[in-house]
Amino acid sequence: MTSSCDIAVIGAGVLGLAVAADLRARGRDVCVIDPGGANASSVAAGMIAPAMESLLDPGAAEPVNRAALLRQARDRWPAFAARHGIALIRDGVDWIGPDADGVVAQLAALGFAAERTEGGVFCPEDWRIDPVAALAALGQGGEGLEGRVAAVQPHGAAWHLTLTDGREILARSVVLATGTAFPELPETVRRAVDRVQAIGGRLAFTTRRLVGRPARFAGGYAVPLGEGTVIGATMEAGGLLVEASGLQQTLLERACEALGLAEIGPVEWRTGVRGATADGLPLIGEVLPGLHLALAPRRNGWLMAPAVAAQTVAGIESRQTG
Ligand SMILES: Cc1cc2nc3c(=O)[nH]c(=O)nc-3n(C[C@H](O)[C@H](O)[C@H](O)COP(=O)(O)OP(=O)(O)OC[C@H]3O[C@@H](n4cnc5c(N)ncnc54)[C@H](O)[C@@H]3O)c2cc1C
Repeated sequence: MTSSCDIAVIGAGVLGLAVAADLRARGRDVCVIDPGGANASSVAAGMIAPAMESLLDPGAAEPVNRAALLRQARDRWPAFAARHGIALIRDGVDWIGPDADGVVAQLAALGFAAERTEGGVFCPEDWRIDPVAALAALGQGGEGLEGRVAAVQPHGAAWHLTLTDGREILARSVVLATGTAFPELPETVRRAVDRVQAIGGRLAFTTRRLVGRPARFAGGYAVPLGEGTVIGATMEAGGLLVEASGLQQTLLERACEALGLAEIGPVEWRTGVRGATADGLPLIGEVLPGLHLALAPRRNGWLMAPAVAAQTVAGIESRQTG
């Protein structure tokens, strides 16, 4: 039997759910399809971090322009969080490490406020959310279909989705927000998504509260999460490495050194795979009539989600009403 919906969003990570939540807020009929379980969005540290990401992971784009883009994305967060009932924590970030004066100067050159502290630098410009709570808030009240899409094919002016269990869905518009895994797609779309690279990432969760607010240090960070702390994160080109004990060890050693600890104690390792393009910016837009991409935000899926959602919603609405 074939069911139908106006807009089918494939993937319930932060990008898919952000698009769906904004569409629902505008009264649109949306169905989100996902097999369920953990994804990159749920394991992320939840930093909304234009300042530190501009400084520490500059990417290929011109640094000042990229910093402005990330800052504009962050500035969408207060309204987005209020709209969807997400607690936005605006407690800033500490830099603990060498060259504090240089870090203040570099942040200033990128357009971010920062000040020297006894232990390093404080920058009020980076915020955060709790990823699991935020995903729950974004999904609230929405229609979800548990399943995996096997194929997406054009069907007249609409799109035909086939799930791996044989169910079929017809949708006027489709948003592909599947991270780094893709169903069978028309050739043009396949060529576009072939640009998405997988970057594995792992972080350690400890039930100890090691920092009062997020801290960045050379090669890592520590972020309060629930009652504990996450220490992240590795960048594993091509996807998660089979053997990463060396990377894990290095990450914990760096955290100990920066935070002045003899040891972290027992940790639980969490993993996810980020989608990224060569320029480090998301792959978004309508690639065939009615088929929209919301993919590959690299390390900044949470930061970029409101901006990606706004652009995707505008693209869908301009086509459907144009
Ligand atoms: C360790 C780590 C720490 C991070 N920390 C931060 C951070 O602090 N701040 C920040 O901004 N970003 C952070 N990121 C990056 C961020 O998590 C990602 O950019 C973001 O989660 C990507 O979201 P997404 O919706 O594109 O993909 P995902 O979260 O991967 O979601 C994709 C979804 O699509 C579903 N799917 C796949 N194929 C199909 C199919 N065929 N049919 C149906 N569903 C399908 C999957 O099941 C999945 O649920 C971190 C990432 C990692 C790995």
